[in-house]
Amino acid sequence: MKEKGILIVLSGPSGVGKGTVRKALFSEEELSLQYSISATTRKPREGEVHGVDYLFKERVEFEEMIKNDQLLEWAEYVGNYYGTPVEYVQKTLDEGKDVFLEIEVQGAMQVKKAFPEGLFIFLAPPSLSELRNRIVTRGTESEDLIHNRLTAAKEEIEMMDSYDYVVENDKVEHACDKIKAIVTAEHCKRSRV
Ligand code: 5GP
Repeated sequence: MKEKGILIVLSGPSGVGKGTVRKALFSEEELSLQYSISATTRKPREGEVHGVDYLFKERVEFEEMIKNDQLLEWAEYVGNYYGTPVEYVQKTLDEGKDVFLEIEVQGAMQVKKAFPEGLFIFLAPPSLSELRNRIVTRGTESEDLIHNRLTAAKEEIEMMDSYDYVVENDKVEHACDKIKAIVTAEHCKRSRV
């Protein structure tokens, strides 16, 4: 029988560098991860492309997806909806491929209920002041939104213990190496003849 893929959930506060770490992981050929593109009602940032970075939706469209059970998880985060379309995840895992979700903490906890066999990794900032620096340097958020994201971050960091692994993102290459090792070890643990 074909082995099912692993559902890998990378979570952690906004600004911690999940996107950068994800891009580094996806350039690692031996991992061969499949990215689950989230739906969101947030407006695209400059350079973001529909169907690549997100599936950008109107609120009514998103609420329709919730109503029709099309989302594995969803959360309202700093005024916008974000959610994971379930069909792609299910189909890809059934094909024996690993699926990678990059989502915030409320959503990750819902996935943990639905998929306790998933692999849950928390990406942590070296400190809160460093996190603030990173959000400010990114330059995509107003002062109000920075404050809201930092408030959310404090709550998210409290949930760290619910994850299988915590990886500090001091440097992208270090975090990426650690996650690679975790995923490789998880495959060895799960493969049985
Ligand atoms: P951003 O607006 O910076 O792209 O994302 C805000 C937060 O939403 C980030 O922490 C990001 O990881 C998270 N996020 C992105 N997609 C999803 C999703 O499908 N579900 C949930 N719960 N969070 C998501």
